Amino acid sequence: MKRALAILLVVCLIISFTFILGGCSRKGKCEECGRVETLKTIEFDGEKYHLCKDCYTIVEGLKELASIFG
Ligand SMILES: [Zn+2]
Repeated sequence: MKRALAILLVVCLIISFTFILGGCSRKGKCEECGRVETLKTIEFDGEKYHLCKDCYTIVEGLKELASIFG
């Protein structure tokens, strides 16, 4: 029975993972604050981040600052 549970867990993980990668308005864990929300993707310093609305706004501000100071 434990094995069946483990398999079920893995299947759930795969399904949620493909859902996170696939959907356009996807929900997930913010990489900055860890809050589960609808995430936005932002590119910063050559890396992509999936952030909640609040953190997205902060990073967007940082990006602007970075462009000002070069
Ligand atoms: Zn956040």
